[in-house]
Amino acid sequence: MKVEFCRHNLSKEELREVEKVIKSLFLTTAQKTDEFEKEFAGFLGVKYAVGVSSCTAAMHLALLAWGVKRGDEVITTPLSFMATANSILYAGAKPVFVDVEKETGNINADLIEKVITKKTKAILPVHLYGQMADMKKIKKIADRHNLIIIEDSAHCIEGQRDGIRPGQLSQAACFSFHAIKTMTSGEGGAIGLNDDARALLLRKLRLHGMTKSGSQRYFGKEYQPQDMEELGWKYNMSEIQAAILLPQVKKLNGFLERREEIASFYRKAFSGVKDIRMPVVLPGVKHAHNQFVIWVDPRKRDLIINNLKDQGVGAIVNFYPPIHLLKFYRRTFGFKEGDFPVAESISKSTISLPLYPKLTNQELNYAVKTVKEVISNN
Ligand SMILES: *Cc1c(COP(=O)(O)O)cnc(C)c1O
Repeated sequence: MKVEFCRHNLSKEELREVEKVIKSLFLTTAQKTDEFEKEFAGFLGVKYAVGVSSCTAAMHLALLAWGVKRGDEVITTPLSFMATANSILYAGAKPVFVDVEKETGNINADLIEKVITKKTKAILPVHLYGQMADMKKIKKIADRHNLIIIEDSAHCIEGQRDGIRPGQLSQAACFSFHAIKTMTSGEGGAIGLNDDARALLLRKLRLHGMTKSGSQRYFGKEYQPQDMEELGWKYNMSEIQAAILLPQVKKLNGFLERREEIASFYRKAFSGVKDIRMPVVLPGVKHAHNQFVIWVDPRKRDLIINNLKDQGVGAIVNFYPPIHLLKFYRRTFGFKEGDFPVAESISKSTISLPLYPKLTNQELNYAVKTVKEVISNN
């Protein structure tokens, strides 16, 4: 038995949509992208979605669109994928980390005000594993200090907290369609927002800062010369990506139901097991279940993963090391072990287990049995 860590859920429907695009005129950003953006914005309950090439690109552009620049500071969490902090660096700003909550691994909102300086421009929370950070508290802080909020919502499309969804209390929420995210086109991303002017600006910034996209110019009645008003990037979404994503939006809620089932099966199976801890799901949270994570003895973590692999259960780590301890961040900013002890301790203990709609009950049972055996034998 081999239980893969992740298997995508693309079907005939997505194939048919891609086929239509391949048989059509435009492969780069055009009507399919528009269609996907409308559908996705509708799902999120925000006014606009802007399709881009990745969540990294989405965060970079969102920071720029709200004026984050060289010399600014952006507060974020060290317990995330490096993309979160890298996007801040791309915007020319400095990432300022605060430690995380030990129950959830999310940014500890109570520590944010301590690191706010005159240079602070933004807060960039991550909804780790699919459980939203405390957006109400973060919003209050942002308002008190006149800061913007950009959400790294790579793990959280469908989640809610206290009735709040991604994109509702922030300037923008950024999503990922990378291969192991809930909805995928292999690579891809989107920005969800409610701001009319910024939606236009982001559409420009994702394509060199050009006034009109290729398809807009081609389908226009008369020849229109190109102009460039801002320095933009090459971050646009292709029609092929949009075609793969479009049918998935309608299926998101159904897929989430299956992931909820799997997550609660794991949770029941592991609760009370010696040497397995799990992140706490806080009251008021509707979890998006992008990752199912267990926390084990850090001295045995790697051995456990290797044993799981030997037994045919795919497991990965989200995220180790924490961003501040990556070589580049140590070298550039002088971070060292002990700087963010809670993030470090979670990072060292963490194992992500298979969680996707195609996981069968048989595979799930095998994964649970194997995890329990491996942990009790180590
Ligand atoms: C996957 C991921 C990203 C990056 O997404 P891309 O689409 O690959 O750029 C950012 N943040 C978190 C928390 C992620 O898991």
